[in-house]
Amino acid sequence: MRIAVLSDIHANLPALDAVLAALGEVDAIWHLGDVVGYGPHPDEVVARLRDVEAIGVRGNHDEAALGALDVTYFNPAARWAVEWTARRIAPETRAWLQDLPERLEIEKITLVHGSPRDPTWEYVTTTPAARANLAASATTQCLHGHTHIPIAWRDDDGHVEAVRPSDGFELVLDERRVLLNPGSVGQPRDGDRRASAMVLDTEARRVTWRRVEYPIAAVQADIRAAGLPAWLADRLATGD
Ligand code: ZN
Repeated sequence: MRIAVLSDIHANLPALDAVLAALGEVDAIWHLGDVVGYGPHPDEVVARLRDVEAIGVRGNHDEAALGALDVTYFNPAARWAVEWTARRIAPETRAWLQDLPERLEIEKITLVHGSPRDPTWEYVTTTPAARANLAASATTQCLHGHTHIPIAWRDDDGHVEAVRPSDGFELVLDERRVLLNPGSVGQPRDGDRRASAMVLDTEARRVTWRRVEYPIAAVQADIRAAGLPAWLADRLATGD
C-alpha cells in the first residue's frame, strides 16, 4: 500500500493541492492533525480531505478551533488566528473535526499529532524526548507531526539517531523503532518554504520525503483579504 502522509496542513488549500498532485496515485491519504488554524481556507481544506477520504487524527489547533481548549496558552497572534477559525468554520467542518480521534493505529502503525505519550501537545524536538516516546509507542513505527520539521528519530540499540531528510530522501523501515515526521504541508518551519510531506510504502517497507512548490503569493493574498495577521503571510515566504 502506498500512503500519502500529511501533517500540519493549517488551512492552506494551494499547498495541499500541490502536494496531492505531486505525490501522484496513492492507495490512502493519512493526516496527522492541525488541519486548520493559521491559514485562510479551513472549510476548503476539510472539504478536500473529505473528498479524498483522508483519515487521521486531531491536532491542538483543530481542538482549539472547536472551542474545546483554553486558548490562553497560545501566543496572542496564534490566539487571534484560532479565534478567527473558530468563528468562521461551517457546521460540517466542525462536525468533521469533532470526529477526529487523538490517536489511531492502522496497519500496525501509530498516528498521532504530537507524540505517543502526549498525542495532542508534546513537541518531540530533543533526543531525550524522542527516546522516551520511542519507548512509549505501542507500535514499531509511529507517525507524528506538530513541530513542522521533517525528521526521523530511530532507536539503534539504545542509541537514538536523528535523520534529517531532504527532498527525495528514502528511509528503509526495518525492525528498529522509529518516529517519522513528514514536516508541514501548509506552514513549513525548517527554513525551506516548500510544502513538506511523506510517502509511506508498506510493501517496499520504506518512506520517502518530498518537498513541493505551491503558489505562496495566492495564499498570502487570501490571508490579507481574510484580515488574518500579516506575520502569517510573511512566515510562508521564509519557511520559518
Ligand atoms: Zn501545527
